[in-house]
Amino acid sequence: MKLLVIEDETKLAEYLRKGLSEEGYTVDVAHNGIDGLHLATEVDYDLLVLDGMLPGIDGLAVLAALRQSKQTPVLMLTARGQVEDRVKGLQSGADDYLLKPFAFSELVARIQVLLRRANPARGSSEPTLMKLADLEMDLLRRKAVRAGQRLDLTAKEFSLLSLMLRRQGEVLSRTELAEQVWDMNFDSETNVVEVAIRRLRGKLDAPFERPLLHTIRGMGYVLEARDS
Ligand code: CA
Repeated sequence: MKLLVIEDETKLAEYLRKGLSEEGYTVDVAHNGIDGLHLATEVDYDLLVLDGMLPGIDGLAVLAALRQSKQTPVLMLTARGQVEDRVKGLQSGADDYLLKPFAFSELVARIQVLLRRANPARGSSEPTLMKLADLEMDLLRRKAVRAGQRLDLTAKEFSLLSLMLRRQGEVLSRTELAEQVWDMNFDSETNVVEVAIRRLRGKLDAPFERPLLHTIRGMGYVLEARDS
């Protein structure tokens, strides 16, 4: 899931970028309304976090301009006391708003609700609990457990494993993994996928007798339980 944060306070913007990345989202940041509107129009984001008070063109103007062409869900951030702005925000097409200052957990909860609302089919077709042999993942609690032991995964490792588990038995190429998990095109000669697979193996398979993550030479990787 790809989010755009439009926020001019650099400290808050950086805090949101870091926090939301740790939640497993891909996050872009714009520091003013003009850049934000440009990105939001050009790129297909799953959701926008939009500050109301921005230099250049403010949040409401960004929203109004965006709604000419796109229905991307928008969560507006509003300063306390700007009641009129909130009303205007909702009227101009914001999907929800959050008063500053807010708790990060509240922001994440609102984002999850908006994303589920925007992708109902996706929500119902993607189970939140998945299993393969003695591996279990709980996507809501962001927990991966193998043989009763919790795996200590980074956000990217968690995304990678959940994608492979959802599509267990299917060979996934490095290109596809790079696009789906890192949201990057694989033109660049980076070995980010191999490095991540190696780290994931160290946590997922190394401590256990039976490997689940297999390399298919020249094709990619597959997650499956094999007999031998
Ligand atoms: Ca601001």
